[in-house]
Amino acid sequence: MATDYDSPRKTDDDLGEDSLQELQARRADKSSGTIDIDETELAESLELPGADLSNEELSLRVIPRQADEFTCSRCFLVHHRSQLASDKGGQQVCRECAA
Ligand SMILES: [Zn+2]
Repeated sequence: MATDYDSPRKTDDDLGEDSLQELQARRADKSSGTIDIDETELAESLELPGADLSNEELSLRVIPRQADEFTCSRCFLVHHRSQLASDKGGQQVCRECAA
């Protein structure tokens, strides 16, 4: 059963790289304005016109850090100090990321 899962996974990776390179090649062939349009679309989607970001939503994302907690520099999650695996040069890494 395991071998059945391995072969399609490799094929997917190859296809992904091929299609990505193909896309980039096609974009290069077309007018250079294509990339500019992508960036504009990105900025618009980030601004979310009409979307009302309430303070409630923001307070949910920003978790107040407690004195016995730290923010992992890799996954940016707040962990208890007991989960601190390394603290080199202020770069605090949790056990999950250090593993
Ligand atoms: Zn982490």
